[in-house]
Amino acid sequence: MTTPWGLPDFDAHEDIHFVTNEECGLKAIIAVHSTHLGPAAGGCRFWHYARDEEALVDALRLSRGMSYKNAMAGLPLGGGKSVILANEERSKTPDQLHAFGKAVEQLGGRYVTAEDVGMSVADMIEVSRSTKFVAGLPNSAGDVGGDPGPHTSLGIFLGIKAAVKRALGKDSLAGLRIALQGAGSVATGVALHSAAEGAKLSIADIDEAKAKKLAGAVGGTVVSADEILGLEADVLSPCALGAILTEATIPQLRVPIVAGGANNQLATDADGQRLHQRGILYAPDYVINAGGIINVCTEYLADGDASLVRERIEGIPVRLDQIWAESANSGRDPAAVADAMAQRLIGRA
Ligand code: NAD
Repeated sequence: MTTPWGLPDFDAHEDIHFVTNEECGLKAIIAVHSTHLGPAAGGCRFWHYARDEEALVDALRLSRGMSYKNAMAGLPLGGGKSVILANEERSKTPDQLHAFGKAVEQLGGRYVTAEDVGMSVADMIEVSRSTKFVAGLPNSAGDVGGDPGPHTSLGIFLGIKAAVKRALGKDSLAGLRIALQGAGSVATGVALHSAAEGAKLSIADIDEAKAKKLAGAVGGTVVSADEILGLEADVLSPCALGAILTEATIPQLRVPIVAGGANNQLATDADGQRLHQRGILYAPDYVINAGGIINVCTEYLADGDASLVRERIEGIPVRLDQIWAESANSGRDPAAVADAMAQRLIGRA
């Protein structure tokens, strides 16, 4: 029998809920990793898993990631995550979303949900019909909330500037070359902010039309998706996929800095060490890409306005600097330093 306790990704999760509603065909897992700093907050992923155990592993891994991300963003929130096990067609019904919302509601606020892969704003509106413990809903003009993408981009831009200051001693991105992987929501904001400061962008997306459009908007050049990781530049900003920094790709990098928004950029913990050994400054992904969750959580907590969101996002480069300083002092790579800091913040050191 496989139990959560026996899985390598089990990390003293406080509780794990298995939700079944045979009437509407809902199967979901809600994992609460830590409520040390506040209610466990993290999105709901709607995904088809070949085996149920993969869904459990995803929930365990992602909920721990949310504890780290929320703690490092200075938010009064713990970490949790839910997954809805989709059928092969990935079809969902309002009844399933309502049943999921009911399960969230029954936890009485220990877990707060929001969008993740496979869940739209419209889906969250359905979920919100059966629970108040939900964020990422549309906002009215001037209110905090709505699309987290632009907030994520702003945090990454500020993080890139901090990395450039530390590694290259420069206060501005003017004239610097940024290799941008991806031309989606997050990458677009990073490109617009960076170009406005005078950076020169090389952009790659597997959807070349998107890369061309973004390059046109920021006066950049299009590079093929195969070439982007090996491009000579001042900054590589991965804003597309996870697990792109590997034993195979790290030796090809020709940049002094890697700072971008994609989740889970390091394929393994050893890859953080590999970057460090090559003298490449790495901005840990869950620290630099926290702008979106900062916005979502400020909306949920209703504890401030757009200026508090901005202030919290401006904490991202400050946190990165602390990580890099500790890394320089200890010789440990920044990803390992960030994990250790996050563990201290959630009382698990
Ligand atoms: P998106 O879907 O808008 O954009 C992703 C882009 O990457 C797409 O245009 C896609 O075609 C491209 N892409 C996929 N594979 C590629 C490849 N091999 N090479 C080049 N391009 C490729 O998604 P997004 O919201 O911009 O998110 C980008 C990354 O940032 C993801 O890893 C996401 O998990 C992470 N992230 C997003 C947010 C947010 O607020 N949206 C917050 C935190 C982290």
